[in-house]
Amino acid sequence: MSKIQVMEADLANKIAAGEVVEKTMNVVKELVENAIDAQATIIKVELIDSGVKEIKVSDDGIGMDKEDSLLAFSRHATSKLKKLDDLFNINSLGFRGEALPSIASVSNVLLKTSDGKTGTIVSLKGGEVESVKSGDIKKGTTITVTDLFYNTPVRLKYLRSLYTELANISDYINKMALSYPNIKFILINNDKELLNTSGNGDLLKTISNIYGVVVASKMMYIENFNDDYKISGYISYPELTKSNRSSITLLINKRVVRNNEIVKTILESFHTYIPKDRYPYIVLNIEVDPFLVDVNVHPTKMEVKFSKINELINLIYDTISKKLSEKTLIPKAIKDNVEDNYYHDFKGITYEVNDNLYNFKEKENEEDSEKNSPKVEEIKFEFDNDINESKNLETSVEDERIKDMYPVGVVHGTYIICENDKGMFIIDQHAAAERINYEKYFHALSTHSKNTIDVLIPYKIELPSNEYLILEKNFDILDRLGFKYEEFGTNTIIIRSHPTWLPKFAPLEAIRKIIDIIVTNEDFDEDKFNEKVSITLACKMSIKAGDAITLPDMTYLIEELRKTKNPFTCPHGRPTIIAYTKYDLEKLFKRAM
Ligand code: ZN
Ligand code: ZN
Repeated sequence: MSKIQVMEADLANKIAAGEVVEKTMNVVKELVENAIDAQATIIKVELIDSGVKEIKVSDDGIGMDKEDSLLAFSRHATSKLKKLDDLFNINSLGFRGEALPSIASVSNVLLKTSDGKTGTIVSLKGGEVESVKSGDIKKGTTITVTDLFYNTPVRLKYLRSLYTELANISDYINKMALSYPNIKFILINNDKELLNTSGNGDLLKTISNIYGVVVASKMMYIENFNDDYKISGYISYPELTKSNRSSITLLINKRVVRNNEIVKTILESFHTYIPKDRYPYIVLNIEVDPFLVDVNVHPTKMEVKFSKINELINLIYDTISKKLSEKTLIPKAIKDNVEDNYYHDFKGITYEVNDNLYNFKEKENEEDSEKNSPKVEEIKFEFDNDINESKNLETSVEDERIKDMYPVGVVHGTYIICENDKGMFIIDQHAAAERINYEKYFHALSTHSKNTIDVLIPYKIELPSNEYLILEKNFDILDRLGFKYEEFGTNTIIIRSHPTWLPKFAPLEAIRKIIDIIVTNEDFDEDKFNEKVSITLACKMSIKAGDAITLPDMTYLIEELRKTKNPFTCPHGRPTIIAYTKYDLEKLFKRAM
């Protein structure tokens, strides 16, 4: 019996809207997904000029008989699904019976296919069958689409630059390869090979094929499940980030999807581990009963909704945060695998293509913005012992994460050099102090520590009236934080006592900062507010780059850093510590090869 069935008209109409083939990417997508549906184990995509001149997709799948190969180009025919309900079933990718005829109508198509018994060659021009011949019986299908849009100059105009088009295709094939590590994907443009995956079923190997060996060596496997969802995949060490979201691949039952809530959750779980506006590498496969997934969204956009989203979000958040918190994440100064340089040159295209797609501009880094911000006059080095002591119990496990090390000295008044039997470490004194103070403040804020200190001479703080009005509306925040205060005349508040955790050397400065955050903040979510206060105070009140520090202070700083929950990055996501292993040093001095 014929594998292709004519779609119910209703379904065809539901899907058809907006499905006009106007990008080479859509053509590649359709052909590749057909190949996957045909159970291919090798899919080769060869392009000339990003596909505008020619797109050739070959597979070793089940192929078609003569009847099917002709039916494939008639309107509303599809072998892939019969009812709209099937759209999200795991076994079927294609949903656009429309697409092949649409593609054929704006190009020249040569189809060579064989089901292993008979071989068929169909040639079409502008959608009309020109010839049908018999061909090779080697199982599989090769479709060559040439001169796409040749008869539609108007559409050609909509084609973005060849470069962008190639970037989209490359990104798409990468994601398909990540969804199907058991299929070998080859992508070639103008005789240049852009991707060639092993297809051996190993996801990490595929990650390595796509992003390079260095990236693959810094990925961590995660796996977890609850009643409704099972998640698995790889997340990168925080030191490895990318400037855009293309490094995040979400799969639902092996199908590439987009979902902002999930991406947000991933970024939240990486929060303070990586800098703002940077993205981790992640390949996350979510297995779920299709019943819980709502695809009543445009199919090509791959946006999905879940009926039990909170269960999923919690599962992802818990799994990633746990993984990040139990790993030693000190970046190594010397990268392993020197022989990968070749690989990177070779892969260069894919990287550039993806980065340029989003017009990435390097954001001014945190250090710059710190330098530009007004300096706090009182700069001291301070840690509050009482609060840290209470945390000692919970942090005994983390002590293992940064081994004992001893300061040797300081470079440029900023970088503390340390050593132990494993190697040499460089600690950024500001970043480290900032992490320690951040966790200290955050802990005090979120445990609603109510210990307060009365001030001898009350602080009088006067604000512009617009700011005072906002502060007045949010007096409850001051209450929550444990301040004792009164209103005093116009637009003025008097602080009589403040929480003990405020930096002792500059309480007024800290209070001003907090009030500043209250009057400029739009989001009064308690956690977010606490975090903002903690980061701001930590950054302003910690030892700065260039400030003098003594050896005992360094020792103390390292000890305190070891007690933190995440000793490896400052709350802005910059690294606090970098390692040169003993072996790295030996290699650098050619003592070891
Ligand atoms: Zn800072
Ligand atoms: Zn920082």
